Amino acid sequence: MNVARALGLGADLAIDLGTANTCVFAPGRGIVLTEPSVVAFSTTRERVAAIGTEAKEMLGRTPGSVVAIKPLRDGVIADFEAAEKMLAYFVRKAHRRSAWVRPRVIIGVPADITPVERRAVKESALRAKASEVFLVDEALAAAIGTGMQITEPTGNMVVDVGGGTTDIAVISLGGLVYSRSVRVAGNEMDEAIISFMRRHHGLLIGERTAEHIKITLGSAAPLDDPITIEVKGRHVTEGIPCTVEVNDGEIRDALSETVNVIVRAVRDALERVPPELSADICDRGIVLTGGGAMLKHFDRRLRDDTHLPVTVAEEPLASVALGAGVLLEDPKLLQRLAA
Ligand code: ADP
Ligand code: MG
Repeated sequence: MNVARALGLGADLAIDLGTANTCVFAPGRGIVLTEPSVVAFSTTRERVAAIGTEAKEMLGRTPGSVVAIKPLRDGVIADFEAAEKMLAYFVRKAHRRSAWVRPRVIIGVPADITPVERRAVKESALRAKASEVFLVDEALAAAIGTGMQITEPTGNMVVDVGGGTTDIAVISLGGLVYSRSVRVAGNEMDEAIISFMRRHHGLLIGERTAEHIKITLGSAAPLDDPITIEVKGRHVTEGIPCTVEVNDGEIRDALSETVNVIVRAVRDALERVPPELSADICDRGIVLTGGGAMLKHFDRRLRDDTHLPVTVAEEPLASVALGAGVLLEDPKLLQRLAA
């Protein structure tokens, strides 16, 4: 045991390395960091210009000399160099720069990750100065993080709507009974808004503006109080900056196709789980997590479509890190669920 742990300084970390956001939990301190998974490099890649929140601000706004990169795609590392730099930075930041600390690190990974990808994640973490690295299935971690008793012989369904993928899992006795990942989630919603704004308003907008529209007025079912906002962008034909008004109804229409795909995937999953577990899910319902679960009335829409109880996790962006954090403090469960 290293000195920091012996002194109870909480050197260990649980990390959700997400396509959109990275979230870090430290035992005894809670969630210590939630930042976008973005790295901004100088174009020659010689220099890192910014990482995390600051780098995201640069997306779509970079001058010729800087490129902003998302190192993860569909939950796995797509750009190793960028991922490693990002992980090292977040680990350092989580430790408030006490560089001598070598933490045990547990990282949530997608269920369908390949052995090569597993090794890549582990090696990145080791190079980021972890002393030991454990990988845990993201869906299991998310379920634990939302407070499910996953080791009991009852079925639990968790639907994680992230940036790149929506992951649907049914868990019983500490294992995945069913899991499916569809590549339709938050990013696809943003894309739908970008194309809607172009087609219906002749306005070109970037991904950050689209995300802002989604978060402020996007919804999956009619709102009680209608919302209208002004959106700025560039006019398609005239090429000059301009402003248009958009309301929640329009954006709901723009998002409906994407929302339908996710709802259909959940219904499909419900049809495939063994009957005994179906009965459990009937009683316990579905837990929604991931940033996309915060889309207004997404839970209501899913409830209407499945006739099951649907709840949204208390902290949708933190579920995976919180669940992985529980494992850091429970050696038996860690041994059983992580590798
Ligand atoms: P990942 O695990 O892939 O990193 P997250 O769970 O962090 O993804 O969720 C990120 C996604 O959630 C992004 O697409 C983001 O736009 C979306 N999101 C965040 N907040 C909201 C909100 N209030 N309403 C709708 N979508 C949201
Ligand atoms: Mg995630």
